Amino acid sequence: MASVGEFELIERYFTRPVKRAWLGVGDDCAFINPTPGMSTVVSTDMLLEGRHFLPDISAERLGHKALAVNLSDLAACGAKPVAFTLALALPEADPEWLAGFSKGLFAIADRFDCELIGGDTTRGPRAICITVLGEQAPGQALLRSGAHAGDDIFVSGVLGDARLALEAIRGHASLDAATLSKVRKTMEVPTPRIALGIALRGLATSAIDLSDGLSGDLGHVLDRSGVSALVSLDAMPRSATLAAQPPEVQRRCLVSGGDDYELLFTAPPELRAFIADASTQAGVTVTRIGRIEAGKGLRFLDRAGEPLNFDEPSFDHFRD
Ligand code: ADP
Ligand code: MG
Repeated sequence: MASVGEFELIERYFTRPVKRAWLGVGDDCAFINPTPGMSTVVSTDMLLEGRHFLPDISAERLGHKALAVNLSDLAACGAKPVAFTLALALPEADPEWLAGFSKGLFAIADRFDCELIGGDTTRGPRAICITVLGEQAPGQALLRSGAHAGDDIFVSGVLGDARLALEAIRGHASLDAATLSKVRKTMEVPTPRIALGIALRGLATSAIDLSDGLSGDLGHVLDRSGVSALVSLDAMPRSATLAAQPPEVQRRCLVSGGDDYELLFTAPPELRAFIADASTQAGVTVTRIGRIEAGKGLRFLDRAGEPLNFDEPSFDHFRD
């Protein structure tokens, strides 16, 4: 199929009527009317081919993932999605690819009621940068900095399947074709935990979304909150697929695997019943994996409560 020009591309694949914004794609800026009394919450995430997604990911899944990882940051703050902008670099304007990408993108945008209001389009190595806008009542923000000694530590969903997919693709774990395709879908089609973030307003003392691996991401909470943590490795929720892997693969995927996009949060033990209600309301499981203590550092415990000694660094773009 013939490729399309820049403005035809924007018009055909990325322009839709807007509801919440009073001006969307097509002018020099977009205009939004914020809800009076609410804070506007902003977050940006960039996805580069080879770094954040495999070159053979389907266009539709990439459209989904690009927005999902941004929405996940809103979820971590307990914010409600409003709108987003899309900066897109593509080596060529392939209509088939663009149709798939915009289909995946708008499907998740509609599901979370988040409108595309503008962006930028350029030729170059495939990269996607989304800035998402959300709303949150100023007093209800979930932050990394609020964890207290004595708080429980919870995570949503199950952890480690996305990393297991990567391990299998790299030949470091063996999975049959059907299982690989299942965990690969987990890696490429994550669900942002928006409903859970909103349900945790007024309950969680701190929260973060797990994008780079639990050890590093929980580490950010500990640093910002000035506390330490004990985490039970056995308590960490995992799929039957991951549970069937050798212990060291499980540990690597659970502790340092990235791309989970689940929420990690803390709350005082007297709120356990409310946390269970929030989980039911949001339709996602929540598992207690440890507790916050005074001091510094993150320690993992075995089934008997004995400290485990291992070094599982989290993902860092400028290390390795
Ligand atoms: P300018 O040159 O003034 O920055 P552009 O010509 O780049 O504007 O973009 C024209 C319009 O199309 C703008 O409203 C911009 O927000 C929108 N736009 C450009 N690329 C995208 C995209 N990938 N998705 C959504 N809107 C886009
Ligand atoms: Mg421009």
